[in-house]
Amino acid sequence: MRRKTVQKDAIKNAFLMESRPLRVDEILQMGRKVVKSLNQATVYRNLKCLVEIGWLRIINHPDLGIFYERAGKEHHHYFHCHACDRLFEIPGCALHEKEFVPPGFVTERHQVFLFGICSACGRT
Ligand SMILES: [Zn+2]
Ligand SMILES: [Zn+2]
Repeated sequence: MRRKTVQKDAIKNAFLMESRPLRVDEILQMGRKVVKSLNQATVYRNLKCLVEIGWLRIINHPDLGIFYERAGKEHHHYFHCHACDRLFEIPGCALHEKEFVPPGFVTERHQVFLFGICSACGRT
C-alpha cells in the first residue's frame, strides 16, 4: 500500500513540476528519479487511474501520439518544439470557430497544435 502511494505521488509530481503535457516515456523518466524501481506497466496503471478519477486527461496528438495533462484547465492550444521534443501549453484561444465553417455547420470543439522551436531552443 505504502509503495503504491509513493509510485502514484512520483507520477503526480512530474505533472506538478512541469505543468505541460507529458508522454509516458517522460513520466517514466521523471518518476524514476524518485522511485528507481518504477516500470512502464506501473506508470500506465497509475495514469489510467488518474484519468478515471479526473486528475488527468488524455490528448491525442496527430503526429506524436498520446500525451497526458492535468484535467480541468481552461481551453488552450499546444506547441511542439521539434528540437527538444517537448509539448507546451499555449494559453488562451484566438480562433473564432464560427468564422471557419460553412453555413449550417456547427463546430463543437477544436484542438490546435503548433509546430516549431521553443524559446529555450531558439536561443543561440
Ligand atoms: Zn525546445
Ligand atoms: Zn482554441
